[in-house]
Amino acid sequence: MRIEFKKTLGSSTIQTSDWNSSAWQMRHSLKTKSDFEKYFSLSDSETLAFDEESGRQNLNSIEKLFKFRCTPYYASLAQNCEAIRTIVVPKIQEYQTGWQSLSDPLLEKENNPVPRVIHRYPDRALLLVTDFCSVYCRYCTRKHFTGRDQAFLSESDLIQALDYFQQHTEIREVILSGGDPLTLGTAQLEQVLFRLRQIEHIEIIRIGSRMPVVCPQRIDIELVKTLRKYGPVFLMTHFNHPDELSFEAAEALSLFVDHGIPVFNQSVLLKEVNNDPEILRLLSRKLLYLRVKPYYLFICDPVRGTNHLKVPLAEAEAIQKKLWGSLSGLGMPNFSLDIPQGGGKISIVPNFEIARDEKSRTYCGFDGITASYFDPAP
Ligand SMILES: *Cc1c(COP(=O)(O)O)cnc(C)c1O
Ligand code: SF4
Repeated sequence: MRIEFKKTLGSSTIQTSDWNSSAWQMRHSLKTKSDFEKYFSLSDSETLAFDEESGRQNLNSIEKLFKFRCTPYYASLAQNCEAIRTIVVPKIQEYQTGWQSLSDPLLEKENNPVPRVIHRYPDRALLLVTDFCSVYCRYCTRKHFTGRDQAFLSESDLIQALDYFQQHTEIREVILSGGDPLTLGTAQLEQVLFRLRQIEHIEIIRIGSRMPVVCPQRIDIELVKTLRKYGPVFLMTHFNHPDELSFEAAEALSLFVDHGIPVFNQSVLLKEVNNDPEILRLLSRKLLYLRVKPYYLFICDPVRGTNHLKVPLAEAEAIQKKLWGSLSGLGMPNFSLDIPQGGGKISIVPNFEIARDEKSRTYCGFDGITASYFDPAP
């Protein structure tokens, strides 16, 4: 069976040339309750989320809900897919605190040596080039920074960040993040890439972006040619559900790969979105077919407003075990959890070991075969 990618259709009143323009998508993004009502018949809990928010305008920004925003394109996907709707339409449950509800679960603020730089691992650092995204995902882990109208980093912040990278010769990789770096114009992005490439010890540039998912219209020849010029540049994208892989998204991903930009995908495991081995398997197969390597599948961080989206760890482990052995190794993402308080990422791997002694360990494989492996004889 061939894997198919469906073309999205805007409403018949929208010109195709408008629909295919990222500027149009940005200008017509949904931001208010009435915008969302044009696309969705809102449920009680969705309506309450919008109403509660407008009743709380006096609250400070931390108490307010995470910003609302969605491109018409992504809304059209969400209209036909409950899972995608869950990602983007707020629910009143976002006000629930749960057992662990943190604004900055990864304590990024403590690994923030200069503005807009997060340096947690010795050889790689993040540069938050903007806090803006074209879609605000309800589970975003960086709610302490994202969507706070800070926009593109200032010239003085950029100079400080570049100085920091210059001084820290152990940094081999810079990861452009945010917010979404591909919401910048190509010329603005090129300025950052050009200046990063003046620093000799930086080998790899990664760009983390959800634009191929939520606004594939942004991806054009000019962008991918620019990225190629400053390569090696890796694109880390963020698909969570196979229905996000539309014809438009598939074309955008092909443009990157055809221009020598390796593409990796990071997903978040979310309740009622993708907590199902069949959905994850299909997502991985479709990604692989498009030459995108599934890289990480993250446990949802304990960020505020996500209690209703988190998957219990025992269920997550069971899902991982079902995928193991039944999905091509190429399609198998690292199942990863970021230890709260900035402990860093760990991998969740099914436990195959059933016994051990001084000489050997005994394992049971994915379909039940049990055997021992012996260390070399002394
Ligand atoms: C995830 C992360 C990285 C990148 O980690 P990789 O395992 O190399 O993908 C770098 N810095 C921070 C702060 C991170 O959270
Ligand atoms: S695209 Fe990324 S940074 Fe932006 S809201 Fe979604 S998860 Fe957060």
